[in-house]
Amino acid sequence: MRLQRFLARAGVASRRKSEDLMTAGRVRVNGEVVTELGSKVTPDLDVVEVDGRRVRLEDGHAYIMLYKPAGYLTTMSDPEGRPCVASLVPTDRYPGLFPVGRLDGDTTGLLLFTTNGDVANGMLHPSRHVWKHYVALVRGVPTQQELGRLRSGVYLRGGSAQPAKAKVLSPRDPAAIPVIPEGLPMGMSVVGLRIHEGRKHQVKRMLKAVGHEVVRLHRDEFGPLELTGLLPGQWRPLTPAEVRSVE
Ligand code: URA
Repeated sequence: MRLQRFLARAGVASRRKSEDLMTAGRVRVNGEVVTELGSKVTPDLDVVEVDGRRVRLEDGHAYIMLYKPAGYLTTMSDPEGRPCVASLVPTDRYPGLFPVGRLDGDTTGLLLFTTNGDVANGMLHPSRHVWKHYVALVRGVPTQQELGRLRSGVYLRGGSAQPAKAKVLSPRDPAAIPVIPEGLPMGMSVVGLRIHEGRKHQVKRMLKAVGHEVVRLHRDEFGPLELTGLLPGQWRPLTPAEVRSVE
């Protein structure tokens, strides 16, 4: 097995980041630093270490769902010391845990963490078209024509967005509650948007492009996963069925 694949499978980092660890000289096999990206290892025979710590395949992978609250950056550390999601998940119990994709600091909702680089790549790769569902509190009420533009692929700088599924949600719809816990403010509405891309600030930019500023944004679905059983700031391991659905 190629060393970078071994490292990703062991939950050290994604395959790409594992390559960076190798070229940085942080990976040893049987005591020797290995920087060559084509190098192979035999999982049961070779002793692999990253920064001096033994890495094993049979450790098993961790899969964790976090209800990300607002005010946390999607990063495992911040040089400026701002609150980040790493402080909300059990990194000491699951070394190598990292977030699969990103939510903006002010976005709430479902954030998946894993130690499995292959699963992360599969969930994020553009060719896999993994659908995500967002609920947005926006200024104004989108017209049918504006929803039509979202559905046919609204123009964004850097290339049009892929067609989305978009609808205005009733404020009584349970899906709307996370963005309007105290009820619907005057002059605003709640939009449900389903997209399979993951460009930076994509939902905010798409809604802005049709004339509606996002005031609050929440993600309640990521591929086959639904945000259930959690309050803001809480995490839970995926169920075995959920793990099978993302593998
Ligand atoms: N789109 C956004 O604009 N922000 C997010 O956090 C996620 C999707």
